[in-house]
Amino acid sequence: MNTRRNFLTKLVVSVGTPALLCNAAFGQAPPAKLEETDPTAVALGYKEDTTKVDATKYAQHKADQVCSGCALYTGKVGDAAGPCGAFGGKLVTAAGWCAVYAKKPEAAK
Ligand code: SF4
Repeated sequence: MNTRRNFLTKLVVSVGTPALLCNAAFGQAPPAKLEETDPTAVALGYKEDTTKVDATKYAQHKADQVCSGCALYTGKVGDAAGPCGAFGGKLVTAAGWCAVYAKKPEAAK
């Protein structure tokens, strides 16, 4: 085998294999961000900023309701965004809101 090809093969194996093993060992890609334009997000009135919710369309919405206070939000306290169970684990903003909002039990906040 020519020396250059041999070198490149070894380089790919030595660089690529640890990267593949790291990906396999440490999990998958991070969850995708939920976009307001996502058809399900549109259907449920999701907004990244709770103050932008259409009050005429969602009369149940209250200004103090945000994703970080919702039972379906599994982000950490203080994070700007976190996974939402209503959207398959996609990332929603902590300050967001949608029509599925369900207040977290007080002790879980
Ligand atoms: S279900 Fe809860 S956490 Fe998910 S987008 Fe709606 S309000 Fe936010």
